[in-house]
Order: sequence, then structure tokens, then C-alpha cells
Amino acid sequence: MNNNNPPKLAIVIPCYNEEAVLAYTLDHLRQYLQTLIDNHKITPDSFLYCVDDGSNDQTWSIITTQHQQFPNIKGLKLTKNVGHQNALLAGLLSIKNKIDCVISIDADLQDDVSAMEAMLDQLKAGYDIVYGVRTSRQKDSFFKRVTALTFYHIMKKSGADIVHNHADFRLLSQRVIASLNQYKERNLFLRGIFPLMGYRSTQVYYERHERLLGQSKYTLKKMIMLAWDGITSFSHIPLSLILALGVMSFFLSIVMMIWIFCAKIFTSSAVPGWASIMIPLCFMGGIQLLSIGIIGEYMAKVYLEVKRRPRFIKETELN
Ligand code: UDP
Ligand code: MG
Repeated sequence: MNNNNPPKLAIVIPCYNEEAVLAYTLDHLRQYLQTLIDNHKITPDSFLYCVDDGSNDQTWSIITTQHQQFPNIKGLKLTKNVGHQNALLAGLLSIKNKIDCVISIDADLQDDVSAMEAMLDQLKAGYDIVYGVRTSRQKDSFFKRVTALTFYHIMKKSGADIVHNHADFRLLSQRVIASLNQYKERNLFLRGIFPLMGYRSTQVYYERHERLLGQSKYTLKKMIMLAWDGITSFSHIPLSLILALGVMSFFLSIVMMIWIFCAKIFTSSAVPGWASIMIPLCFMGGIQLLSIGIIGEYMAKVYLEVKRRPRFIKETELN
């Protein structure tokens, strides 16, 4: 891409059962895209790219109708629900050779669309990754705020350099997506991967709104899974904890052995009771189970990686 020519942009929108909001979102984004084109910020053949993540409502028919009406709205339908991160990945990798840059945004327009212009300016200034960072979390529920903060904290401690208060609203240049293609892991936590790549990056700030219409598609279960994937894909802390627990239990058992030994020698009626057998038994049993559980989690990940299954399967693509 020549620095003086505007880049070709694709806006990737993962959609899972978004019939309530999608028509509005596409209208809004299409008009914004046109404004960017008119202002020579992007090329006229820039487009919107909707990834239908196995929705079972009218989402795909909305995308198809819009595509017939407006050729710069394109889409991809996945055969089944693979989750936000994999749907986004499917979108990014599918268009990697057709664009100069991509901006990913959620279908519910919680992120500020107008921040895209600032992102494009940063691309022009030479940055490959521009993170959209929300200025406050006032609109989120108390629970979401607390869990999110805890998650960032654990990730930071784990050494994964994820960007604070950044979700998946970001601009990526073509070469970042080309590099992303080289990350073949199945447990892909995108927010952790991009900072790892080492490309020049910067941030733009925006106010995050409430979801316009429809319900959050991130159930508590999906949120916990995302956080757990993030932590176990990047962090060795759970494994290190096993070592710490192992060392602690080893010293405790030595102390207990000395105590039992002394009781045996120095007290006359010292018949070691059931407690001195049961306590270490329970203690060791508990620690062993916990440890095996955590090791099992890593084993499960290795198992999935070794299988090398495809992360998504395309059903239909509109070009
Ligand atoms: N999403 C998806 N697959 C899923 C869950 C969510 O593609 O299994 C999409 C969803 O359509 C939306 C984005 O991911 O565009 C973020 O979801 P949502 O806004 O419901 O999450 P929240 O903002 O509540 O964290
Ligand atoms: Mg949302």
C-alpha cells in the first residue's frame, strides 16, 4: 500500500442471532463507510463483511438481502456456532488477500463507529495495529466490571500483555492478518495474540455505549470460557501453583512426620490416633486431585492442538 493512496478497508462484523439489531447496524455502517469513501479515507471498493456464526434466526437472510441491495455488503456463513473469537478469525482470514486493512466491530454497535476515522489516521501514520480502548465502564453492570478487572489483573500477572479495556474493536493492517494466519493454535485468544506479534501499535479512545437492541450473546458460560481460555492459553501460573502447592505439602508432611515420630518416642500413651492418618490423607488427596485437574486442562489443550482440526468451516460466501 502506497502511503498516499487511501487503503482498501473491510469492516468485519461477527453476528450471532443479531436479527434485532443487524439491519440498523448495517445501514449505519454502510453510511459511515460511504462517508469515509467520500472523504478519500478509504478506496471506493471497501466493504462490510458479516460473519454469521451459525445463527438460528433471520441473521443470514438479512445479510443476503442487504448484499443483493448493496454490493459492498458481503458475508460469510459458518456451518455452526463456533464462538465470537473463531467467527472473527474466520472473517479475518477469509479476506486476508483482498484488503489493505480491517476493522473488527461487534454487531450491536456498542463501540463508537466514529472512532474508525481516527484508527485510519493512525494506520496512515504508520501503525499496523490500532486498539479501540473504552474510556469508562460505567455502562457495564457491576458484575461485568468486577469480573473484567479481575481477568485483566490475572492476565497481566501471567505475562500476557493484553491491552486494558480493549475488546475486539481494532484496526489491523494486511500484514498483521497475514501473520495471524501463521498462528495455528486451536485455542486462539485474539486479544493476547496481537500484542505478542510485535507490530507497531497504538490506541484510540472512545466511549462505549449500551447494546442498542437484542440481548448479549455472551452468556456467563461463554464469558467464563473466554477468560479460562485466555488464562490457560497464555499463562503458566496454574502449573506453577501446582509446584508451590507440592512444595508446601512436602514441608507440611515432613513437619507432621516429625510430630508423629516425637509423639511415638516421648509420650507414654502415644498411640497415634486416626487424625494423624486422616489429616495427611485428606490433605494429600485434595492437592493431588486439584493438581491432576489442572494438568488435565493443559492436556486437553495439547490434545486439541495435536488433532489440528479446522477452526471453522465455510458454508457460503458472498463476494
Ligand atoms: N458473537 C458471535 N458468536 C457467539 C457470541 C457472540 O459471533 O457465539 C458476536 C455477537 O453477535 C456480537 C459480538 O460477538 O457481534 C459480541 O457479542 P455481545 O455484544 O453479545 O457481547 P457483550 O458485548 O455482551 O460482551
Ligand atoms: Mg456487545
